[in-house]
Amino acid sequence: MALQQNCPCGSGASYDACCGRLHRGAALAQTPEELMRSRYAAYAVGDSDYVFRTWHPRTRPDDLSPDPGRTWTGLTILGAGDDWVEFTASYERGGVAGEQHERSRFEQRGGRWVYVDGDFA
Ligand SMILES: [Zn+2]
Repeated sequence: MALQQNCPCGSGASYDACCGRLHRGAALAQTPEELMRSRYAAYAVGDSDYVFRTWHPRTRPDDLSPDPGRTWTGLTILGAGDDWVEFTASYERGGVAGEQHERSRFEQRGGRWVYVDGDFA
């Protein structure tokens, strides 16, 4: 992913100035929404290492290898609170468009926000 390209999370900022700096460890997400955006962007750019380290160890699956047939095409944040974010993430798989609608829960752990789990609509 080119650093000056628009960030996949849809913020309008460059990848480098937005989620890229979280992916490379130069900054930490300050809010659940920022973490959620950066996790979506990590899926979009294939950074499974970032997905792994921002997932609560209690709920983290063993296998986080990305689905190679799936292309993430957009993110819409529907709402966010102190420890949750509701969003839809669009994707394409085998030429068919789909959407994932989730309300995610987050926790602070050692001063860092991590993803815990989510309810799927
Ligand atoms: Zn971003």
